[in-house]
Amino acid sequence: MFTITKEVYFCYGHRLMNHGGKCRHLHGHSVKAAISITRENLNNQSMVCDFSDVKECVENYVNSYLDHNFLLHKDDPIIPALIQNNERFLALDEHPTAEVLSKMIFNHLKESDFHVTKVELWETASASASYSE
Ligand SMILES: [Zn+2]
Repeated sequence: MFTITKEVYFCYGHRLMNHGGKCRHLHGHSVKAAISITRENLNNQSMVCDFSDVKECVENYVNSYLDHNFLLHKDDPIIPALIQNNERFLALDEHPTAEVLSKMIFNHLKESDFHVTKVELWETASASASYSE
């Protein structure tokens, strides 16, 4: 089995409504997403796939939905104020944790026919969450 891993960097704001600590307040992260693609056999270029193809696919998604965006649960009471102030946000069915964002990126790659096996999102230098299948 062969695996390649590509890292992509981006920023977002969020808050976790039901969190008991400081994460319930508006704050932001500058994150690294590490995307792993696995194949049993290499292609005719002796690669799993081209790093730049993974980068393009992830960055298209990240730039459209996540980067410099405000990620909120759909029931967050701050949403009307953001709409009133013409601010960009993305309302999710789930709380906007690193776990949920990992799965969103994973699903986009899977739908784009990459043999993605794991997306790990580093929210700080010492804390990451991942989704894998
Ligand atoms: Zn946070």
